[in-house]
This record gives sequence, C-alpha cells and structure tokens, in this order.
Amino acid sequence: MRLILLGPPGAGKGTQAARLVEKYGIPQLSTGDMLRAAVKAGSPVGLQAKAVMDAGGLVSDEIVVGIISDRIAEADAKNGFILDGFPRTVAQAQALDELLARKHMELDAIIELKVDENALMSRIENRARETVAAGGTVRADDNPEAFKVRLDAYRVQTAPVSAYYASKGTLKVVDGMAAIDAVTKAIDAILG
Ligand code: AMP
Repeated sequence: MRLILLGPPGAGKGTQAARLVEKYGIPQLSTGDMLRAAVKAGSPVGLQAKAVMDAGGLVSDEIVVGIISDRIAEADAKNGFILDGFPRTVAQAQALDELLARKHMELDAIIELKVDENALMSRIENRARETVAAGGTVRADDNPEAFKVRLDAYRVQTAPVSAYYASKGTLKVVDGMAAIDAVTKAIDAILG
C-alpha cells in the first residue's frame, strides 16, 4: 500500500497517518519529521533547512526529493509507505512520479483532507497547548507568524499539487472537518 496524504498544515495528516501505520504496518514518511531530525542532529541538510523551516517557508525541492528517494529505498518501505507532507510542490510530485516509475512502483491512493482554513489556526493553537500539557516542546513553526507563512506556502505552492493529481484522476477528497474517527472511516472506505 503506497499512499499520499495531502492537506494544509493542521489538517490532521499526522493523526490519520499514525492510524494507517497501525492498520497496514507500513511506515509514515513525514518530510517534516525527517527535516526536524536533521536540524536536531545538526547535519548539513539540517543546517541548510533550519532558518527556512522556522520562518514557515518551504525547503528546496532538491533537498526533500533526495530525502524521500533515500528513505523509500530502505527495507521497511518495501511493502509500502504513507507520504505525509510530501509532495508539497508540483515539481516534487513530478519528481516522485519519475522516482516511482524507475523503481516500478505505483501509488495506491492520493487522499486530500479538505479543511476550512478558518479552523486551522485554532487547531495549531490546540496542538501547541496539548504538547505543553504533555511535557513536550512546541514546534518552532507552530506560532501565528510562521503559521501564516506556512498557510500561504500551502495556498501558492501545495494546492496545485491536488490539482495535479486531480487532473490525472487519482485524487480522492475526504472531509477533514469531520471528527477524527469519521475521517479515519472515510479513508478506510477509500482504501477498501
Ligand atoms: P510539516 O511537519 O509537514 O508541517 O513540515 C514542517 C516544515 O518542514 C515545513 O513548513 C517546511 O519548512 C519543511 N518541509 C516539510 N516537508 C517539506 C516538503 N515536502 N517540501 C518543502 N519543505 C518541506
């Protein structure tokens, strides 16, 4: 099972991806998580990505395509994977198509979580509050200024990715405003 979860920041991609990991036993490949790990480790990629991530902008296509190319070649991704936060530009989607074609792999589903943008800021504020309550550290980009930039990046650079897959006839859209369990059910129905 090879899946892509699309949707703006705060749409619930991470939550749903975690459930799919349980159900299908395939890894969640979040470029955001991988980039945060690179920043934490102080690797060359992390050093390059940190400032743009903190500000809410997008890291270069070259970096993230390289990360995903390496990651899907790992043993645990042999039976499938869930892409969360990638592709975020049409160039990334095209690079992914080429990458998968070279490996003779196909995507099983591309699912977009559609949400009302007005709800996203309060979702992000809740996420920050819950993280603090659980004793965790709030992401550097989960603040109103960076969030606005992330949302703008989504509108300008990532929304066309949905159009890209829709034009190929492979996009499925789910109501991301529904309760978490209802969203999971809708995704299950798509995946059969
Ligand atoms: P996320 O955890 O998916 O919200 O990603 C956090 C940040 O990592 C984003 O705001 C970007 O700066 C960067 N990032 C994650 N995935 C990508 C991607 N596919 N392309 C470019 N930048 C990305």
